[in-house]
Amino acid sequence: MKAPRFAYARPASVAEALALLDKHKDDARVLAGGQSLVPMLNFRVAAPKVLVDINRIAALSGIKVTKSHVRIGALSRHVELERSPDIAKLLPLVAAAMPHIAHPAIRNRGTFGGSCALADPAAELPACALALGATFVLAGKKGERRVAAEDFFKGLYATALRPGELLVAAEFPLAKPGCKSAFGELARRHGDYAMVGLAAHRSGKAMRAAFFGVGDRPEVVDADSIDGVISGIDDLEPRADLHASAETKLHLARVLAGRVLAQLQ
Ligand SMILES: Cc1cc2nc3c(=O)[nH]c(=O)nc-3n(C[C@H](O)[C@H](O)[C@H](O)COP(=O)(O)OP(=O)(O)OC[C@H]3O[C@@H](n4cnc5c(N)ncnc54)[C@H](O)[C@@H]3O)c2cc1C
Repeated sequence: MKAPRFAYARPASVAEALALLDKHKDDARVLAGGQSLVPMLNFRVAAPKVLVDINRIAALSGIKVTKSHVRIGALSRHVELERSPDIAKLLPLVAAAMPHIAHPAIRNRGTFGGSCALADPAAELPACALALGATFVLAGKKGERRVAAEDFFKGLYATALRPGELLVAAEFPLAKPGCKSAFGELARRHGDYAMVGLAAHRSGKAMRAAFFGVGDRPEVVDADSIDGVISGIDDLEPRADLHASAETKLHLARVLAGRVLAQLQ
C-alpha cells in the first residue's frame, strides 16, 4: 500500500516547527527518521494531513556534555549514539543498547527522539532513559518544560507529550564514580524488537532494573540486591504477545535478571 495524501512542511527552526504543530494541531505529525512513521503511513495505521519534517533543524541534533549531564538532542541518529566516544565513556548503558536496535540501515536514519516519542514498549532507549534517571525536554507554544523519564512513558505508545509539543532532547545525569550498568535482551533474531530486555544501573547499593517487552511500557524494579530485583519481577504483569505467553515472559525476565545483574557485582 501507499501512504494516504498528506501535505509536507520542512521548518528550519524549533519555533517554526512549533508554529506548524500549533496551526495544524491533531492533523499534524512530526517526521524524524521516518523508520516507524513511514511504514505506519504505508500501512495506513496513521493518516496525518500534514507531516512536519524536523530533519533540517540543527538545534535538535547533537550530543553535548555539561558539568551535570549528557544532553542528547532528539534528532541524534542511532548511529551517532552508537559511535560517540562521549556516550561510550559517560553512558555505557546506552552504548551497550545501541547494537540491539534494529539493523545498520535503520540506525543510520532512526533518531533518539523518534524512539522515545514513539514509546514502543519493547524499545531499548526508553528503558535506558528510565534506568539512568534521564529527564526529557519538551518544547511547546508556552516554552520548555522538563519531564522525568518515570513520568514520560504513560502506556502503550503513549507519552507525556501534549498535542503541539516537540521532544527536544533528553538530559542524562553524569554517573557518580563507582556506578555500574549492564544491558541484555532476548530476541528471536538479532535486531528484532526484544521479547524481554533489561537495562540496569547500580549506584552504591541501589540497583535499578528497567525491564522492557514486559508490559505496555518499560517497568522499573528498584532493589538493593539481585534477589530483591528477582522478587520484584513477580509484580510485573506482562501481556502475552506474538512471541511468548505472559508466563514465558516472566520466566525470561528472571533469567535475564540473573545474567545481567551479575555484571553489576
Ligand atoms: C525493521 C525495523 C526494526 C526495528 N527494530 C527496532 C528495535 O529493535 N528497537 C527499537 O527501539 N526500535 C526499532 N525500530 C524502530 C527504530 O528505532 C525507529 O527509528 C524509531 O522507533 C523511530 O525513530 P524515527 O526517528 O525513525 O521516528 P519516526 O518514524 O520519524 O517517528 C516515530 C514517531 O515519533 C514521533 N516523533 C519523532 N520525533 C519526534 C520529536 N522530536 N518530537 C515529537 N514526536 C516525535 C513521530 O511523529 C512518530 O509518531 C525498528 C524499525 C524497523 C523498521
